Amino acid sequence: MNILVEHLTKIYGTQPAVDDISFEVRTGEILGFLGPNGAGKTTTMKAITTFLEPSGGEIKVGDFSIHTQPQEIRKNIGYLPENNPLYNEMPVVDYLYFAGAMHELPKDKINERIIHMISICGLEGEKHKKISELSKGYKQRVGLAQALIHDPAVLILDEPTSGLDPNQIIEIRDLIRRIGKKKTVILSSHILAEVEATCDRILIINKGKIVADGTADELRKKSKGNEIINVTIEDGDKNTIFEALKSLETVGLVDFIDHKENAFEIQSLPELSSRRNVFNLCISRGWVLTEMKVTEAKLEDVFRELTIS
Ligand code: ATP
Repeated sequence: MNILVEHLTKIYGTQPAVDDISFEVRTGEILGFLGPNGAGKTTTMKAITTFLEPSGGEIKVGDFSIHTQPQEIRKNIGYLPENNPLYNEMPVVDYLYFAGAMHELPKDKINERIIHMISICGLEGEKHKKISELSKGYKQRVGLAQALIHDPAVLILDEPTSGLDPNQIIEIRDLIRRIGKKKTVILSSHILAEVEATCDRILIINKGKIVADGTADELRKKSKGNEIINVTIEDGDKNTIFEALKSLETVGLVDFIDHKENAFEIQSLPELSSRRNVFNLCISRGWVLTEMKVTEAKLEDVFRELTIS
C-alpha cells in the first residue's frame, strides 16, 4: 500500500511545523525520516496516521484519504508513537489482546496473532510479565507488537530504537528490516547510522521543509564536501613529503594521520581532485605510494550541511 503526501502543511499559531511537503513511499520500501529536533517529523507522522488534522494538503494511504476515510486508514496502519506509550499495569499478553480488540479483530484471530507477535518480536520469556516490569528494549518490542497486531500494510515508527542499548538496537533494526520487506514503512530517527542500516531511502526534513530525498549514496554524492584522500607514501622524509603535498595546486589542507607510517589526509580544493597530482609527485620524487584511498563524505556531514542554519 503506497503513501502519498501532497502539499502537507501544519501551522501551530503562526509557526509552520510542516510547510508544504510532498513525497511518496511505495510498498516494500522502508523510508527513513531524518531531521533535527523540531523539524516536523512527528507532526508528519501524526498526520499520516490521522491522529492530527493538517492545516492544508492531502495524504492518501492506498486509495484512502485522511480527510474522508480516516477509519479505513487506521485499519491499515500500525503506529508506534514517540515515547512508546503503553499500559504499564497490564501483562504483555493482555495488552496485546486489548490492542487486537481495539482493531476489532475476531477473538480467535486475536489469539492467533498474539502467538505470532510473541514469536516474531521475541517476547516468549516476557509474555506474562506486567509491562512495568519489562526492560526498555522489551517494552519497545511490545510497542512494535501492538503496532503489528492487526497485520497492517503500513507501519509508522517514531524513533523506534530511542533509548535502547546497542544489542537491542541491532535486534529491533533486524526485526524492522524483516517486517519491512512486505510492508510500507516510515521510520523516524536522529541516528544516521541506523537510518542508513535500516532504510532503503532517506528523507531529510528541516524546519518543516524537505531538504533531501534519496538513498544514502545519492545523498553523499550531493554533498558539497571537498574530496578527501588518505595516502601512505614511503621512501621519503615525512616533512619533505608534507611540504610537497601542501604545495600541490589542487590541495587545500594536508594533515598527518600517522607520523611513523608517513600517512596523510589530503583535502582537495572545492571541485578539484588531487589524486593524479599526488601520484605524479611520488613518481617525480622517487617516493613509493603504497596506499591511496578516497574517503566518502560522511552522512553526518551531509546532514549538517543541509540542516544547520
Ligand atoms: P523531535 O525530533 O524533537 O521529536 P520533530 O521533528 O518530531 O522533533 P515535531 O514534534 O513535529 O518535530 O515539531 C515540529 C514543530 O512543531 C516544533 O517547533 C514544535 O515545537 C511544534 N509543535 C509540535 N506540536 C505542537 C503543538 N501541539 N503545539 C504547538 N507547537 C507544536
